[in-house]
Amino acid sequence: MAPELLTDRLLRSWLRCKRRAWLDRHGPRQRRQWSAHRALALDDQLRSFQQLLPERPGHGEAACRQGSAGVMGLRLYGHGPGGLELQAHPALLQRLPGQSRWGDYAYRPVLARQGRRLTREHRLQLALWGRLLAAHQQAPVPEALVVAGGDRRLERETLPLGPGLQHQLDESLERLAQDLQRATPPPLVNDRKKCTLCSWRSLCDETAAAEGHLSEVSGVGGKRRDLLLELGVRSLAELAAADPQRLADDLAVHGEQHREVAAQLVAQALVQAGGEPRRRGADGTPAQPGEPWGAALPELATAPGVLLYDIESDPDARDDFLHGILRLERNADGRWPEALLPLSGPGAGHYQPLLALYEHGEARLWQRLSRLLARYPDWPLLHYGETESVGLLRLAERQGVGEAERARLRARLIDVHQRLRRHWLLPVNSYGLKAVAGWRGFHWSQSGVDGARCLLWWRQWRLGGRLPRRGRHQLGRIFLYNRDDCRATWMVARWLLEQEGA
Ligand code: SF4
Repeated sequence: MAPELLTDRLLRSWLRCKRRAWLDRHGPRQRRQWSAHRALALDDQLRSFQQLLPERPGHGEAACRQGSAGVMGLRLYGHGPGGLELQAHPALLQRLPGQSRWGDYAYRPVLARQGRRLTREHRLQLALWGRLLAAHQQAPVPEALVVAGGDRRLERETLPLGPGLQHQLDESLERLAQDLQRATPPPLVNDRKKCTLCSWRSLCDETAAAEGHLSEVSGVGGKRRDLLLELGVRSLAELAAADPQRLADDLAVHGEQHREVAAQLVAQALVQAGGEPRRRGADGTPAQPGEPWGAALPELATAPGVLLYDIESDPDARDDFLHGILRLERNADGRWPEALLPLSGPGAGHYQPLLALYEHGEARLWQRLSRLLARYPDWPLLHYGETESVGLLRLAERQGVGEAERARLRARLIDVHQRLRRHWLLPVNSYGLKAVAGWRGFHWSQSGVDGARCLLWWRQWRLGGRLPRRGRHQLGRIFLYNRDDCRATWMVARWLLEQEGA
């Protein structure tokens, strides 16, 4: 058999999830989805490298020969343990004093770190780049450089590429080669939060649903799944069939917090297996017949209208760049507008996007927001998740709004997600807005768009897309996505109101 060709990209995929590397090599290409996260990472990388280097880097072997301060696009080849063929494409090489085959300088690899800490994935990737670069430039590469920070203050950290790391790299390359030779893909990653960033997500979601994978149960993360597997509970169906009391006792060995959630996990699995929503009782499990229940949204009983509120953020820059508000008035006959609001025309509501631009300052944003809120003093402000309430109340505080007024604002803010979780168990694998509104039949107007894609449009717009046509187009897509989130929030709220009517 021909030796496996292993690349740095395959190694990175494998370190994230073994199945991902296998799919990268053998998976059906047409099922691979474009991910905005990768584009955002490349955008961050570019900004970090621009801060690091005084001038534009050169390209490939010719730039190395000329001694450019930075070099991109150099492909490196070599051999690993057992004759494995290796190939790598370092993001950037930085020139340092030294001796190499090109003259009295040598290079070291540079990686732009994503996230707050240096991980095994970063270390092993740099070890591979360093090893192949040392052979190529005929000079040792004792260390690599890691940068982070994008357009904030650039963080720099050197990483020694010692023998210990090289040993770990050899072990990983051997195991990667073995995994790639499997006839079937490795199992789904244990902690499926990682799947959010993966281009194979939709394929693996189908597998998880078909297998009744434990991660499909809302509330079961990587650690809890390990505990359940240890107890012999291997699937959604087995969790649904478990005795809650016995499970609570077994899980309590690992901490009292697990005892407390055991019954709720069984209840959630039961609801997902049954496919029907159930009202939550006082203990968090399905309500018993005759058990009294309170309204989920009592504030809407007499309200003349609602404001549906959604923020778009750049979490790395801690920037809430768009505050979108959809105004919805109660009909003249006292009924609420339909759940599935049209995008335009009668009954669509009035959508107002408020952009938060650095150059305009926060005071102006607050002035516009508070003026809008003051025009509808008795209208509750509905949002999904805590981002909006935290963002708005902090903004008010920064703008010097007094405690009494902030308390009034707090009382107007209604987190539909929190109310839903408090009152209902739903047959969904996540209580996020996409999953819940999707379960009610809501479709976002732009397919394949998520918060990351929206953020990418925003960054592109900030970087120069404000030129007439392109800029208008990107902003228009961001507003449409944000307005859809407001409409989706109404769909969930409306469903809660309907249950109370029923
Ligand atoms: S979607 Fe998740 S399980 Fe599937 S390959 Fe990606 S990270 Fe692995």
